[in-house]
Amino acid sequence: MGEPRSPATAKPRLVRCPACGGDSVYAPDNPFRPFCSQRCKNLDLGAWASESFRVAGDNPPDDAPDPDAPLQ
Ligand SMILES: [Zn+2]
Repeated sequence: MGEPRSPATAKPRLVRCPACGGDSVYAPDNPFRPFCSQRCKNLDLGAWASESFRVAGDNPPDDAPDPDAPLQ
């Protein structure tokens, strides 16, 4: 017989990695939480940054229709 462990405290909490959807250990020893790895963290940050740049770059100067635009 062994000593009963407390699974509530011994078991690491698992969350879903926002980048790959896999299991990620949500604990102080995982510096990349809530991501499962540095790779996933970089992927997510990269996607976020590139999307921001893309949105800003593609944003038209003015999205309101020009009332003086000649109709074809
Ligand atoms: Zn991941």
